[in-house]
Amino acid sequence: MAAEMIIDMTKTYSGRAPIQARLRYEVEASTVLILFGPSGSGKTTILRSVAGLEWPEEGRIQFLSRIWLDTKSGIRVSPQDRQIGYMPQDYALFPTYSVAGNIAYGLGALTSPDRNRRVAEVVELFQLQGFEAAKPRELSGGQQQRVALARAVAPRPQLLLLDEPLSALDAPTRLQLRGELRSLLKQLALPSIIVTHDWSEALTLGDVMAVMGKGLVHQVGKPHEVFSRPANAEVARIVGVETVVQGEVLEQADGLSTVTVNGTRLKGLSNNAIGAAVYVCIRAEDVVVEQAGSGMTSARNHLKGVVRDITPQGVMVQVLIDCGFPLTATITRGAVEDLCLVPGASVIAAIKAGAVHLVPKSG
Ligand code: ADP
Ligand code: MG
Repeated sequence: MAAEMIIDMTKTYSGRAPIQARLRYEVEASTVLILFGPSGSGKTTILRSVAGLEWPEEGRIQFLSRIWLDTKSGIRVSPQDRQIGYMPQDYALFPTYSVAGNIAYGLGALTSPDRNRRVAEVVELFQLQGFEAAKPRELSGGQQQRVALARAVAPRPQLLLLDEPLSALDAPTRLQLRGELRSLLKQLALPSIIVTHDWSEALTLGDVMAVMGKGLVHQVGKPHEVFSRPANAEVARIVGVETVVQGEVLEQADGLSTVTVNGTRLKGLSNNAIGAAVYVCIRAEDVVVEQAGSGMTSARNHLKGVVRDITPQGVMVQVLIDCGFPLTATITRGAVEDLCLVPGASVIAAIKAGAVHLVPKSG
């Protein structure tokens, strides 16, 4: 039997719609599950239920061969006995404890020399040398994040739960720590569940992604597949990026990268190395459709394509264009008529370089 995580739970806060999560996925050494969804969709509630900090009124939570919750047979394993590393969204560092004190917090079962050794090891792993005696308030946001992660990892948990681990950071720090987090998780060979509503984080960090909306899991799959093939309109709306294709960086000049996707060249903003494998991500609303042979625009990308499919979506229309790769555009019904768009029509898809997001592809 494959090693699996099974979450099948219902949690109802009084006066609110129930949060019902149903998902299972295979767990390998460092599998990262992304819980993705807008604010209020129930991500933190699921994470806290897995940690044993919330008690679903009904359901079953099983990690590998360990059953942590089974309301039918009355199994309720305490948080302490689950061996989980949990990092809440606000980090919840102890303000009066030093960095070393925070990291040592979960190591009470060790002898004093063993505890000191483990703290030193983790301090080094998270590059916190020299800050052992500092208090959390004396640290930058990025350093506080590292301490919170170090504290979660120090007791050698079996599963790591991170609630929006990068959301409190400024954009450059977030980008840097995103890469570090990815290598760290691989290095630790520790399965984890990461909550985020940032799609570039989901793509970079995730092996499996569960899309949540209003207390329900709508789709589970590989992140790039979920982004490019949302199961329904609800998922498409939640993930908000319709084209995700794999590409390779060919050139870098003036802050622009040229990537190739299945032979089609595009320009996007990024600082990925030449030769790097990337996900090329484009929101359908950022694609302008022009009749083939029409005039110049300021957009850096003009891709020749053929209309494959036209699907009405409320007041807008989704147009699927084959540009050597499938590209989705969202335009108005009026535009479809003005451009005489029908399946088979030749068009130009114009996209500003700033709307071509290049996200490093992991592993
Ligand atoms: P997310 O992490 O996706 O933002 P949450 O799991 O925090 O979502 O919340 C899901 C829903 O449950 C929200 O409507 C929220 O207001 C409600 N909720 C969360 N925690 C509590 C609580 N302790 N008491 C009452 N309602 C709660
Ligand atoms: Mg939350």
